[in-house]
Amino acid sequence: MFKPATSLFLKRGCHPEFDEETNRRILVVNLFALVGISITLVLGISSLMKGGWALGFSLLSASLLFFLASQIQAAYPNKIGQMVSVYLLTGCLMGLETYLVVTGGHNNTGPLWIYILPPVAMFFGGFKRGLMVMAVFTLLIVIILFTPHDALLLTSYSTDFKSRLILSFATVTFLSAFYEYSRERTFELMQKLSDRYEQQALHDTLTSLPNRRGMQQLLGQEIKRHQRTRSAFTLILVDVDKFKEINDTYGHGNGDIVLQRTATLLRQNVRRQDIVCRWGGEEFLMVLPETGEQSASVLAEKIRNTLAKSSIWLEQKEIKVTACFGLCEINEEISLNRGLSLADKALYKAKQTGRNKVVCASIMQ
Ligand code: GH3
Ligand code: MG
Ligand code: MG
Repeated sequence: MFKPATSLFLKRGCHPEFDEETNRRILVVNLFALVGISITLVLGISSLMKGGWALGFSLLSASLLFFLASQIQAAYPNKIGQMVSVYLLTGCLMGLETYLVVTGGHNNTGPLWIYILPPVAMFFGGFKRGLMVMAVFTLLIVIILFTPHDALLLTSYSTDFKSRLILSFATVTFLSAFYEYSRERTFELMQKLSDRYEQQALHDTLTSLPNRRGMQQLLGQEIKRHQRTRSAFTLILVDVDKFKEINDTYGHGNGDIVLQRTATLLRQNVRRQDIVCRWGGEEFLMVLPETGEQSASVLAEKIRNTLAKSSIWLEQKEIKVTACFGLCEINEEISLNRGLSLADKALYKAKQTGRNKVVCASIMQ
C-alpha cells in the first residue's frame, strides 16, 4: 500500500511522450519534493512542540511550498509547469537555507543544511544555470556571515566556523559543478553515438541509401500522410537485369561499383521528396509521393532510358546496365502490402517479356 502510493507520487507529471531525460527529471523533482516535505514537516512539528514558533512555522511553510511545487508539476505536465515547479523548489530551498544560516536553526546547526543546495541546483538547473544560482547564493551567504558586527545575523558563529563553512561549501559546489559538467558531456556523447548508430542501422553502407528497415520507417510516414491528405502515391520496384552475369564476369567488387552507380543514377533522377532505397541485393524501391501511376510511369521510362544509355567503365571495358521497373499506385483501393506484391508481379512480368522494361501493375489486372 505504502510502496504503490510512493511510486504513484513519484511518477506524477511523467508522460510516455516525454523523452527519458525529462521523465527522469520529473521523477527526481517529485522525489526531492517528497523528501523535502517529509523532513521539513517532521522538523517543523518538532520545533513547534519545543516552542520554537518562528523556526517551526518556517519549516512548515517550506513543507507546504515543496508540496505546491510537486502539485504544479503534476497539474501542468508541460515545460512551463516543470520550470515553475523547479524554480519554486530551488527558491524555497534557498530561502529556507538562508533563514537557517541567519537564525542558526536548532542549536546553531542550521548552516549544515546548505550542502544540499549545490547538487540540487546542478541537477535541476544544469551546469550553467546551476553555477549561476550557486554564485548568487554563495555571495548572499558571504554577505550575511561577514557583514560587520553580525548585523545580518540573529545568532553568532565563530570566525573560524564562518570561513570553514564558506570554504567547504565552495568545495562541494565545485565538485557538484564538475560532476554535472561531466554528466552533461557524457550525455551529449551518448546522444551523438546513439544518433549515429541509428543512422547506420537504417542505411545501406554500400550505396548510402536507406536500407529495407529505413524504408519501412519512411513508408510508415508516407502512409500516414496518404491517410491524412488522401492523395495517391506510387511504388516503383527496380531490379538490375542479369546482375549475376556482371558479378561472374567482372567480379563481386566491380558488381558493387555497378550497384553504387545505379543507386546514384536513380537518386539523381527523382525529386527531393521522392524516396529511393536499397530494397535488397540488386533491387531498389522508389516511392513517389503525390504521384499517380501515369506520371510515375513516365518518370520510370525516363530513368530506364537514361540507365540503358549510360556506360559504366570497369577495367577499361564499357558495361551497359539495364533494369526492369514494376510500378503500382497506392490509393484508397490498394493497400501498401498489396501494392508491394503487385509491383513485384509487374517487375516479374517485365523480366519475362524481355527485360529493360517498365510495367505498370494496373495493366495486368
Ligand atoms: P534478373 O535479370 O532475372 O534479375 O537476373 P539477375 O542475375 O539480376 O538476378 P539473380 O537474382 O539471379 O541474381 C542477383 C545477383 O545479385 C545474385 C547476387 O549474388 C548478387 N548480389 C546481391 N547483392 C549483391 C551485392 O551487394 N553486391 C554484389 N556485387 N552482388 C550482389
Ligand atoms: Mg533480384
Ligand atoms: Mg536482377
